[in-house]
Amino acid sequence: MRNSLLRVIPLSLCGLLFAAALAAPAQVKTQAPGFYRYAVGDFEVTALYDGYVVIDPTKLNGLKPDLLPPLLKRAFDDGPRKGLTSINAFLVNTGDHLILVDGGTAQCFGPTLGLLPGNLRAAGYKPEDVDTILITHMHGDHICGLVTADGKPLFPNATVWAAEAEANFWLDEKATAAAPPNVQGAAKMARDSFAPYRATGAFRLFKPGALLPGVTAFDISGHTPGQVAFLFQSRGQSFLAAGDILHVHTVQFAHPEVWAGSDLDPKAAVAARKTWFAKLSANRWMVGGAHLPFPGIGHVRKEGAGFAFVPADYSPMLPD
Ligand SMILES: [Zn+2]
Repeated sequence: MRNSLLRVIPLSLCGLLFAAALAAPAQVKTQAPGFYRYAVGDFEVTALYDGYVVIDPTKLNGLKPDLLPPLLKRAFDDGPRKGLTSINAFLVNTGDHLILVDGGTAQCFGPTLGLLPGNLRAAGYKPEDVDTILITHMHGDHICGLVTADGKPLFPNATVWAAEAEANFWLDEKATAAAPPNVQGAAKMARDSFAPYRATGAFRLFKPGALLPGVTAFDISGHTPGQVAFLFQSRGQSFLAAGDILHVHTVQFAHPEVWAGSDLDPKAAVAARKTWFAKLSANRWMVGGAHLPFPGIGHVRKEGAGFAFVPADYSPMLPD
């Protein structure tokens, strides 16, 4: 009995040591850095991930309720991650300018956001390198990141460009005084985000049209009174940074007539979405969406009575 125990114990110890040697390293539990590059002619576009929010697709308007479950199922978006929605910004290096389209959310919408500055650095740039910031519209997830927690400009060398119609609505305290509380709250975020840039004259207004060489702004208003999209064109290639042209890709490509509660003028928002999906599809332009799944870049294809999104495949930066 005693002898057999002695034989068994060393064998068990061996087994334990063997198992320890085979155990996997600890899981990493963090994601890869949130940036992705894409060439548009001579321009270099870098998508930057700011984080995520959850948009409940059951809160969308204008869709027959029985159509929603099959749409979510088809997109494999009916599980615990339902409605997980990216917030993306786009950095465009034209060779002459380093342009940031939208500035991220900072802490305005909770702890799942505010990753843009870290991802900008991971992408090889510093906030000081940005000389131009183009604003698609003045909701907090596109502008709160322009300032640091103590109200200083995060991009000290940049001029912020905003659409006149957008500024006329959000930055006029009288215009929003009678608005619902959520609009008043958003207006305050806008005033706070631009304050340090306005104080130093680093804030300018524009009307849709040509802004810089290869950069044109188009009116896509409806989601907000002056929302714009920015078309970047170089050597025959095009990329449209389209802001909040849609919010829930699993539903609104197939059904562009569906609108989100945050669309201030639903009729105009739907019209802009239909017009621009058709234009993107016909011209085969690349699109970047602030709320498309990161990196938020891809093509729009006509499909049946609606459209479909074709996300860009991961690819190396290849010379033409
Ligand atoms: Zn947004």
